[in-house]
Amino acid sequence: MTLTIENLSVTYGDVPALTNVNIKVDPGEICALMGRSGSGKSSLLRAAAGIVATTTGTISVGDRDVTNLAIHERRIGLMFQSYALFPHLNVADNVAFGIAKHPDRGPRVAELLALVDLTGFETRAVGDLSGGEQQRVALARTLAPSPEVMFLDEPLGSLDTALRQTLLTDITSILTTMNIPVVYVTHDPTEAFAIADSITVLHRGVVNSEGPPRVLWTTPPTAVTARLLDRESVVEAATLPPVIRGDNTGAVLVPTEAVELLAVDPPKTWHAPADALEATVRHVVFAGLSSRATVQCADAMLTLDTTRDLTRNQKVYITVDAAAVTGLSA
Ligand code: ADP
Ligand code: MG
Repeated sequence: MTLTIENLSVTYGDVPALTNVNIKVDPGEICALMGRSGSGKSSLLRAAAGIVATTTGTISVGDRDVTNLAIHERRIGLMFQSYALFPHLNVADNVAFGIAKHPDRGPRVAELLALVDLTGFETRAVGDLSGGEQQRVALARTLAPSPEVMFLDEPLGSLDTALRQTLLTDITSILTTMNIPVVYVTHDPTEAFAIADSITVLHRGVVNSEGPPRVLWTTPPTAVTARLLDRESVVEAATLPPVIRGDNTGAVLVPTEAVELLAVDPPKTWHAPADALEATVRHVVFAGLSSRATVQCADAMLTLDTTRDLTRNQKVYITVDAAAVTGLSA
């Protein structure tokens, strides 16, 4: 059943946290909800789950309007970064917590522990589990009452990189098996790209952009989205040499792959091609196969990838594919 959030607004006192937000997620689809800290991601999840009150809007699961239902009647699962497991209960009792009245409680818990690969952990104290294991218990507990929608709020935020990778793969395959709409909050583009079918970007409580990850990354419509997805370089058109700037005003994206290094410290006898631009190396980050350099060209800081060994303050010549430079709205 499809999750449909229409015209959702949330206000804390006089402070608007969300304004007229619309989101639609189909069964089996994972939507990554992205945005800077304070953009309203958690408020959206809490409002949809029924933890905070909405000012306007409706939340529907299939043709069921759940806007005015109590939390437990909505059949929406919500999982947080802090696992919020009960320390005095063992693994099985934590998972069984939300299904006290379930007729097949025992088999259901066994089924869920198998799903998250924790069979045999039934009687373990949750305090004796690793962070990744605790997170899988939390996932099993949230899935126990068979929610029709799942919300995950930065579920891997507190784990180290290697564990995040493994758990991300596990969680994605478990969630996909459920065949329900999933909204997954993350501020990490790598995580979003690994898990999401669609991305919705929130900015100051308003939907800033939405679309498939590849489309948003390739052609970000706004400067906010380009920055959030770690696109480089987002610069003001006015800081660029006129040949690159074209007719653009305001923020533009000069994709890293559109900037090419032509020459480093060229000898006086070198003849610069007509499209060569002078630049100065300002910063270099060695990244194994290539380095990522920030060069200053006119007043703009542009990023380029190169296998050459550059050093700070070196004079270089670059070319920029002006056709790849795209205007961004605010
Ligand atoms: P995010 O999860 O994207 O970081 P939040 O939804 O937590 O953003 O917060 C959105 C805005 O609402 C922020 O400005 C935050 O300070 C404010 N806010 C969040 N929760 C409350 C609350 N309980 N009372 C007042 N303001 C809040
Ligand atoms: Mg949050």
